[in-house]
Amino acid sequence: MKERAKIARLDEVVEVAEVDYQEAVDSYTGWCKVCKEFTRGSTEPDAEGYDCEVCGEKEVVGAEQALLLGYIVPV
Ligand SMILES: [Zn+2]
Repeated sequence: MKERAKIARLDEVVEVAEVDYQEAVDSYTGWCKVCKEFTRGSTEPDAEGYDCEVCGEKEVVGAEQALLLGYIVPV
């Protein structure tokens, strides 16, 4: 059984510009929970547990998933 997605802790929440969030959704760019940045291409908006091209950790989630789980807050 798949482990349920972990919701962001308060210190993991990052504010991102609304336009950058929309761009990430449109371009299938994933959010790395370690780097706290959009780092990975070819990442479906609802993806989870993908590897990060920058830090190598499997902590990338899709842009919509990052929003849903509270890792990013568009401002
Ligand atoms: Zn990373």
